[in-house]
Amino acid sequence: MQISITKTTTPKTLIEEDKLGFGKFFSDHMFIMDYEYTKGWHNARIVPFGNISLHPASTVLHYGSEIFEGLKAYRTKSGEIRLFRPMENIRRMNASAERMCLPKINEEDFLQALKTFVELEKDFVPHSFGTSLYLRPYMFGNDETLGVHTVKRATFMIIASPSGSYYAEGINPVKIMIESEDVRAVKGGTGAVKCGGNYAASNRAGEKASKKGYSQVLWLDGVHRKYIEEVGAMNVMFKIDGEIVTPMLTGSILPGITRKSCIEVLKSMGYNVSERLLSVDELVDALKSGKLEEAWGCGTAAVVSPIGKLFYNDVEYDVNGGQIGEVTKKLYDTLTGIQWGEVEDTYGWIYKICD
Ligand SMILES: *Cc1c(COP(=O)(O)O)cnc(C)c1O
Repeated sequence: MQISITKTTTPKTLIEEDKLGFGKFFSDHMFIMDYEYTKGWHNARIVPFGNISLHPASTVLHYGSEIFEGLKAYRTKSGEIRLFRPMENIRRMNASAERMCLPKINEEDFLQALKTFVELEKDFVPHSFGTSLYLRPYMFGNDETLGVHTVKRATFMIIASPSGSYYAEGINPVKIMIESEDVRAVKGGTGAVKCGGNYAASNRAGEKASKKGYSQVLWLDGVHRKYIEEVGAMNVMFKIDGEIVTPMLTGSILPGITRKSCIEVLKSMGYNVSERLLSVDELVDALKSGKLEEAWGCGTAAVVSPIGKLFYNDVEYDVNGGQIGEVTKKLYDTLTGIQWGEVEDTYGWIYKICD
Protein backbone atom coordinates (compact mmCIF):
# COMPACT_ATOMS: atom_id res chain seq x y z
CA MET A 1 0.00 0.00 0.00
CA GLN A 2 1.22 3.48 -0.90
CA ILE A 3 1.07 5.91 2.05
CA SER A 4 1.64 9.58 1.27
CA ILE A 5 3.16 11.63 4.08
CA THR A 6 2.65 15.35 4.62
CA LYS A 7 4.65 16.54 7.61
CA THR A 8 3.52 19.24 9.97
CA THR A 9 5.20 22.63 9.71
CA THR A 10 4.39 23.37 13.37
CA PRO A 11 5.80 20.50 15.46
CA LYS A 12 4.60 20.38 19.06
CA THR A 13 6.85 20.60 22.07
CA LEU A 14 6.75 17.42 24.12
CA ILE A 15 4.74 17.47 27.34
CA GLU A 16 6.53 16.51 30.58
CA GLU A 17 5.92 12.83 31.23
CA ASP A 18 4.40 13.27 34.68
CA LYS A 19 1.79 15.66 33.27
CA LEU A 20 0.52 13.44 30.46
CA GLY A 21 -2.48 11.69 32.01
CA PHE A 22 -4.55 9.68 29.53
CA GLY A 23 -5.85 10.72 26.12
CA LYS A 24 -5.42 14.47 26.56
CA PHE A 25 -2.50 15.20 24.27
CA PHE A 26 -1.98 14.10 20.69
CA SER A 27 1.02 13.58 18.45
CA ASP A 28 1.83 15.74 15.41
CA HIS A 29 0.16 13.62 12.72
CA MET A 30 -2.72 11.29 11.99
CA PHE A 31 -3.32 8.48 9.52
CA ILE A 32 -6.39 8.60 7.26
CA MET A 33 -7.69 6.34 4.53
CA ASP A 34 -10.98 6.51 2.62
CA TYR A 35 -13.33 3.79 1.49
CA GLU A 36 -15.81 3.90 -1.29
CA TYR A 37 -17.90 0.96 -2.32
CA THR A 38 -16.77 1.26 -5.94
CA LYS A 39 -13.06 1.84 -5.23
CA GLY A 40 -12.31 -0.01 -2.00
CA TRP A 41 -9.81 1.53 0.42
CA HIS A 42 -7.74 4.29 -1.16
CA ASN A 43 -5.84 7.51 -0.51
CA ALA A 44 -3.85 6.26 2.51
CA ARG A 45 -2.12 9.29 3.95
CA ILE A 46 -0.44 10.69 7.02
CA VAL A 47 -1.21 14.36 7.51
CA PRO A 48 -0.78 16.96 10.26
CA PHE A 49 -3.08 16.30 13.24
CA GLY A 50 -6.18 18.47 13.01
CA ASN A 51 -9.93 18.72 12.76
CA ILE A 52 -11.80 16.79 10.11
CA SER A 53 -14.85 17.93 8.26
CA LEU A 54 -18.01 15.82 7.92
CA HIS A 55 -21.21 16.18 5.93
CA PRO A 56 -24.04 16.97 8.40
CA ALA A 57 -25.84 13.81 7.29
CA SER A 58 -22.75 11.61 7.74
CA THR A 59 -23.86 8.12 8.85
CA VAL A 60 -21.79 8.07 12.00
CA LEU A 61 -23.55 11.16 13.37
CA HIS A 62 -27.01 9.61 13.07
CA TYR A 63 -26.76 5.86 13.14
CA GLY A 64 -23.60 5.29 15.13
CA SER A 65 -21.60 3.25 12.60
CA GLU A 66 -18.33 3.41 14.48
CA ILE A 67 -15.75 0.90 15.68
CA PHE A 68 -12.36 1.33 17.27
CA GLU A 69 -9.29 -0.33 18.73
CA GLY A 70 -6.84 0.56 21.46
CA LEU A 71 -3.20 -0.49 21.68
CA LYS A 72 0.06 1.01 22.86
CA ALA A 73 3.54 1.68 21.53
CA TYR A 74 6.11 1.01 24.27
CA ARG A 75 9.70 2.22 24.59
CA THR A 76 12.24 -0.09 26.21
CA LYS A 77 15.23 1.10 28.25
CA SER A 78 17.46 0.59 25.22
CA GLY A 79 15.16 2.77 23.11
CA GLU A 80 13.38 0.13 21.05
CA ILE A 81 9.82 1.07 20.06
CA ARG A 82 7.42 -1.87 19.97
CA LEU A 83 3.79 -2.98 19.93
CA PHE A 84 2.13 -5.82 21.85
CA ARG A 85 0.23 -8.40 19.73
CA PRO A 86 -0.93 -5.85 17.10
CA MET A 87 -2.28 -8.61 14.82
CA GLU A 88 -4.86 -9.38 17.53
CA ASN A 89 -6.14 -5.79 17.36
CA ILE A 90 -6.19 -5.87 13.58
CA ARG A 91 -8.21 -9.09 13.47
CA ARG A 92 -10.59 -7.86 16.16
CA MET A 93 -11.19 -4.62 14.28
CA ASN A 94 -12.10 -6.63 11.21
CA ALA A 95 -14.46 -8.76 13.31
CA SER A 96 -16.04 -5.52 14.57
CA ALA A 97 -16.32 -4.28 10.97
CA GLU A 98 -18.09 -7.48 9.97
CA ARG A 99 -20.67 -7.12 12.78
CA MET A 100 -21.30 -3.43 12.05
CA CYS A 101 -21.43 -3.75 8.23
CA LEU A 102 -18.33 -1.62 7.80
CA PRO A 103 -15.60 -2.53 5.29
CA LYS A 104 -12.71 -4.74 6.37
CA ILE A 105 -9.09 -3.71 5.99
CA ASN A 106 -6.37 -5.92 4.56
CA GLU A 107 -4.32 -7.12 7.56
CA GLU A 108 -0.94 -6.32 6.00
CA ASP A 109 -2.09 -2.82 5.01
CA PHE A 110 -3.34 -2.19 8.54
CA LEU A 111 -0.04 -3.35 10.05
CA GLN A 112 1.90 -1.21 7.58
CA ALA A 113 -0.22 1.82 8.51
CA LEU A 114 0.53 1.25 12.21
CA LYS A 115 4.24 0.74 11.60
CA THR A 116 4.68 3.75 9.32
CA PHE A 117 2.68 6.00 11.61
CA VAL A 118 4.37 4.95 14.86
CA GLU A 119 7.82 5.21 13.30
CA LEU A 120 7.05 8.78 12.23
CA GLU A 121 5.71 9.64 15.72
CA LYS A 122 8.38 7.77 17.68
CA ASP A 123 9.58 10.86 19.57
CA PHE A 124 6.11 11.00 21.14
CA VAL A 125 6.60 7.60 22.80
CA PRO A 126 7.43 8.58 26.40
CA HIS A 127 10.44 7.07 28.19
CA SER A 128 9.45 6.01 31.71
CA PHE A 129 8.26 2.52 32.58
CA GLY A 130 4.46 2.46 32.51
CA THR A 131 4.12 5.31 30.01
CA SER A 132 3.26 4.73 26.36
CA LEU A 133 2.02 6.20 23.12
CA TYR A 134 -1.62 5.12 23.10
CA LEU A 135 -2.81 4.30 19.58
CA ARG A 136 -6.42 4.65 18.58
CA PRO A 137 -7.39 3.16 15.21
CA TYR A 138 -11.05 3.81 14.37
CA MET A 139 -13.47 3.63 11.49
CA PHE A 140 -16.79 5.26 10.81
CA GLY A 141 -19.51 5.14 8.18
CA ASN A 142 -19.55 8.33 6.19
CA ASP A 143 -22.39 8.22 3.65
CA GLU A 144 -23.85 11.63 2.94
CA THR A 145 -27.50 10.62 3.22
CA LEU A 146 -30.05 9.92 5.93
CA GLY A 147 -31.06 6.66 4.29
CA VAL A 148 -30.52 3.66 6.55
CA HIS A 149 -28.44 0.94 4.92
CA THR A 150 -25.01 -0.59 4.86
CA VAL A 151 -22.60 2.25 4.23
CA LYS A 152 -20.98 2.83 0.87
CA ARG A 153 -18.38 5.24 2.22
CA ALA A 154 -16.20 4.98 5.30
CA THR A 155 -13.15 6.59 6.85
CA PHE A 156 -10.37 4.84 8.75
CA MET A 157 -8.05 6.83 10.97
CA ILE A 158 -5.29 6.31 13.53
CA ILE A 159 -4.46 8.95 16.11
CA ALA A 160 -1.86 8.72 18.87
CA SER A 161 -1.87 10.08 22.39
CA PRO A 162 1.24 10.08 24.59
CA SER A 163 -0.05 8.81 27.92
CA GLY A 164 1.29 8.64 31.45
CA SER A 165 1.54 5.62 33.68
CA TYR A 166 -1.90 4.32 34.66
CA TYR A 167 -0.46 3.71 38.10
CA ALA A 168 1.46 6.94 38.62
CA GLU A 169 0.26 6.91 42.24
CA GLY A 170 0.78 3.19 42.81
CA ILE A 171 -1.58 0.27 42.21
CA ASN A 172 -4.59 1.02 44.37
CA PRO A 173 -7.40 -1.55 44.35
CA VAL A 174 -10.69 -0.06 43.16
CA LYS A 175 -14.22 -0.16 44.57
CA ILE A 176 -16.77 -1.76 42.26
CA MET A 177 -20.56 -1.72 42.30
CA ILE A 178 -22.48 -4.69 40.88
CA GLU A 179 -25.06 -3.25 38.46
CA SER A 180 -28.41 -5.03 38.33
CA GLU A 181 -30.51 -2.64 36.23
CA ASP A 182 -28.67 -1.41 33.15
CA VAL A 183 -26.89 -3.98 31.02
CA ARG A 184 -23.91 -3.39 28.74
CA ALA A 185 -24.73 -5.90 26.06
CA VAL A 186 -26.83 -8.89 25.09
CA LYS A 187 -26.05 -12.03 23.17
CA GLY A 188 -26.71 -11.29 19.50
CA GLY A 189 -26.01 -7.60 20.08
CA THR A 190 -22.70 -5.79 19.82
CA GLY A 191 -21.07 -6.60 23.17
CA ALA A 192 -18.40 -8.77 21.56
CA VAL A 193 -17.17 -5.98 19.27
CA LYS A 194 -15.51 -2.67 20.02
CA CYS A 195 -18.07 -0.12 18.91
CA GLY A 196 -18.63 3.35 20.28
CA GLY A 197 -22.32 2.70 20.96
CA ASN A 198 -21.50 0.16 23.69
CA TYR A 199 -19.70 2.90 25.55
CA ALA A 200 -22.49 5.45 25.14
CA ALA A 201 -24.96 2.93 26.55
CA SER A 202 -22.81 2.09 29.56
CA ASN A 203 -22.18 5.62 30.77
CA ARG A 204 -25.37 5.91 32.80
CA ALA A 205 -24.48 3.00 35.08
CA GLY A 206 -20.93 4.27 35.39
CA GLU A 207 -22.20 7.64 36.50
CA LYS A 208 -24.56 6.09 39.04
CA ALA A 209 -21.68 4.07 40.51
CA SER A 210 -19.47 7.12 40.63
CA LYS A 211 -22.10 9.11 42.56
CA LYS A 212 -22.12 6.36 45.16
CA GLY A 213 -18.36 6.46 45.46
CA TYR A 214 -17.51 3.47 43.25
CA SER A 215 -15.10 3.69 40.39
CA GLN A 216 -16.80 1.24 38.02
CA VAL A 217 -19.62 -1.27 37.65
CA LEU A 218 -19.53 -5.02 37.40
CA TRP A 219 -21.88 -5.94 34.56
CA LEU A 220 -24.30 -8.84 34.67
CA ASP A 221 -25.67 -10.60 31.59
CA GLY A 222 -28.59 -8.95 29.81
CA VAL A 223 -31.01 -11.88 29.88
CA HIS A 224 -30.94 -13.16 33.47
CA ARG A 225 -29.05 -10.32 35.25
CA LYS A 226 -27.29 -13.24 36.84
CA TYR A 227 -23.99 -14.10 35.20
CA ILE A 228 -20.95 -11.88 35.54
CA GLU A 229 -19.67 -10.42 32.29
CA GLU A 230 -17.17 -7.55 32.57
CA VAL A 231 -16.04 -4.78 34.86
CA GLY A 232 -16.38 -1.27 33.40
CA ALA A 233 -14.65 -1.54 30.02
CA MET A 234 -12.39 -4.37 31.13
CA ASN A 235 -12.63 -8.12 31.31
CA VAL A 236 -12.75 -9.57 34.78
CA MET A 237 -11.06 -12.45 36.60
CA PHE A 238 -11.38 -13.98 40.04
CA LYS A 239 -9.42 -16.39 42.16
CA ILE A 240 -11.97 -18.53 43.97
CA ASP A 241 -10.77 -21.32 46.22
CA GLY A 242 -7.52 -21.72 44.28
CA GLU A 243 -9.11 -21.68 40.82
CA ILE A 244 -8.84 -18.74 38.42
CA VAL A 245 -12.27 -18.06 36.96
CA THR A 246 -13.13 -15.70 34.11
CA PRO A 247 -16.48 -15.41 32.36
CA MET A 248 -16.58 -17.47 29.16
CA LEU A 249 -17.02 -15.63 25.86
CA THR A 250 -20.75 -16.07 25.38
CA GLY A 251 -21.17 -13.46 22.63
CA SER A 252 -21.90 -10.45 24.82
CA ILE A 253 -18.38 -10.16 26.25
CA LEU A 254 -15.54 -8.32 24.51
CA PRO A 255 -12.71 -10.79 23.75
CA GLY A 256 -9.89 -8.80 25.33
CA ILE A 257 -6.31 -9.29 24.23
CA THR A 258 -5.17 -8.72 27.82
CA ARG A 259 -7.70 -11.35 28.95
CA LYS A 260 -6.31 -13.82 26.42
CA SER A 261 -2.72 -12.99 27.42
CA CYS A 262 -3.53 -13.35 31.15
CA ILE A 263 -5.02 -16.78 30.52
CA GLU A 264 -1.93 -17.89 28.58
CA VAL A 265 0.49 -16.52 31.21
CA LEU A 266 -1.49 -18.06 34.09
CA LYS A 267 -1.66 -21.46 32.39
CA SER A 268 2.07 -21.42 31.71
CA MET A 269 2.62 -20.61 35.40
CA GLY A 270 0.67 -23.74 36.26
CA TYR A 271 -2.59 -22.17 37.46
CA ASN A 272 -5.90 -23.84 36.88
CA VAL A 273 -7.84 -21.37 34.70
CA SER A 274 -11.48 -21.91 33.96
CA GLU A 275 -13.54 -19.95 31.39
CA ARG A 276 -17.07 -20.60 32.49
CA LEU A 277 -20.33 -19.05 33.59
CA LEU A 278 -20.00 -17.41 37.01
CA SER A 279 -23.19 -16.28 38.69
CA VAL A 280 -23.38 -13.33 41.02
CA ASP A 281 -24.78 -15.71 43.67
CA GLU A 282 -21.69 -17.90 43.43
CA LEU A 283 -19.54 -14.79 43.71
CA VAL A 284 -21.41 -13.48 46.76
CA ASP A 285 -21.21 -16.92 48.42
CA ALA A 286 -17.47 -16.92 47.79
CA LEU A 287 -17.23 -13.42 49.28
CA LYS A 288 -19.17 -14.46 52.39
CA SER A 289 -17.25 -17.68 52.95
CA GLY A 290 -13.87 -16.06 52.33
CA LYS A 291 -13.23 -18.25 49.27
CA LEU A 292 -12.89 -15.25 46.98
CA GLU A 293 -9.17 -14.69 47.22
CA GLU A 294 -8.60 -12.11 44.47
CA ALA A 295 -10.51 -10.15 41.84
CA TRP A 296 -9.15 -7.96 39.06
CA GLY A 297 -10.08 -6.30 35.81
CA CYS A 298 -7.83 -6.60 32.75
CA GLY A 299 -7.45 -4.46 29.65
CA THR A 300 -4.82 -2.62 27.62
CA ALA A 301 -5.07 0.68 29.52
CA ALA A 302 -4.45 -0.61 33.06
CA VAL A 303 -3.06 -4.08 32.18
CA VAL A 304 -4.59 -5.36 35.43
CA SER A 305 -6.65 -3.43 37.92
CA PRO A 306 -7.14 -5.08 41.33
CA ILE A 307 -10.62 -4.95 42.86
CA GLY A 308 -10.56 -4.17 46.59
CA LYS A 309 -14.27 -3.84 47.34
CA LEU A 310 -17.51 -5.14 45.80
CA PHE A 311 -20.94 -3.66 46.49
CA TYR A 312 -24.10 -5.68 45.89
CA ASN A 313 -27.65 -5.41 47.29
CA ASP A 314 -26.70 -2.74 49.83
CA VAL A 315 -23.75 -4.68 51.22
CA GLU A 316 -20.10 -3.81 50.68
CA TYR A 317 -17.67 -6.72 50.72
CA ASP A 318 -13.88 -6.59 51.07
CA VAL A 319 -11.73 -8.52 48.63
CA ASN A 320 -8.36 -9.66 49.97
CA GLY A 321 -8.53 -7.03 52.71
CA GLY A 322 -8.63 -4.32 50.04
CA GLN A 323 -5.08 -5.21 48.96
CA ILE A 324 -3.68 -6.32 45.60
CA GLY A 325 -3.41 -10.13 45.54
CA GLU A 326 -0.45 -12.31 44.66
CA VAL A 327 -1.73 -13.56 41.29
CA THR A 328 -2.83 -10.07 40.25
CA LYS A 329 0.65 -8.75 41.07
CA LYS A 330 2.40 -11.58 39.22
CA LEU A 331 0.28 -10.96 36.13
CA TYR A 332 0.96 -7.25 36.26
CA ASP A 333 4.72 -7.78 36.60
CA THR A 334 4.86 -10.37 33.82
CA LEU A 335 2.78 -8.52 31.25
CA THR A 336 4.24 -5.07 31.86
CA GLY A 337 7.70 -6.67 31.99
CA ILE A 338 7.22 -8.17 28.54
CA GLN A 339 5.70 -4.95 27.15
CA TRP A 340 8.40 -2.60 28.41
CA GLY A 341 11.18 -5.09 27.67
CA GLU A 342 12.24 -6.07 31.20
CA VAL A 343 11.01 -9.66 31.00
CA GLU A 344 11.92 -11.94 28.11
CA ASP A 345 9.06 -12.40 25.63
CA THR A 346 8.91 -16.18 25.37
CA TYR A 347 5.50 -15.98 23.66
CA GLY A 348 6.40 -14.04 20.50
CA TRP A 349 4.00 -11.22 21.44
CA ILE A 350 6.29 -8.27 20.76
CA TYR A 351 6.28 -6.60 17.34
CA LYS A 352 9.28 -4.35 16.91
CA ILE A 353 8.74 -1.03 15.11
CA CYS A 354 12.23 0.51 15.25
CA ASP A 355 15.20 1.32 17.52
C1 LIG B 1 -11.26 -2.94 24.87
C2 LIG B 1 -12.14 -3.60 25.86
C3 LIG B 1 -11.68 -4.59 26.73
C4 LIG B 1 -10.22 -4.98 26.86
O1 LIG B 1 -9.64 -5.43 25.70
P1 LIG B 1 -8.06 -5.40 25.54
O2 LIG B 1 -7.84 -5.97 24.19
O3 LIG B 1 -7.51 -6.26 26.61
O4 LIG B 1 -7.63 -3.99 25.67
C5 LIG B 1 -12.58 -5.21 27.57
N1 LIG B 1 -13.88 -4.87 27.57
C6 LIG B 1 -14.37 -3.92 26.75
C7 LIG B 1 -15.81 -3.58 26.81
C8 LIG B 1 -13.51 -3.24 25.88
O5 LIG B 1 -14.01 -2.29 25.09
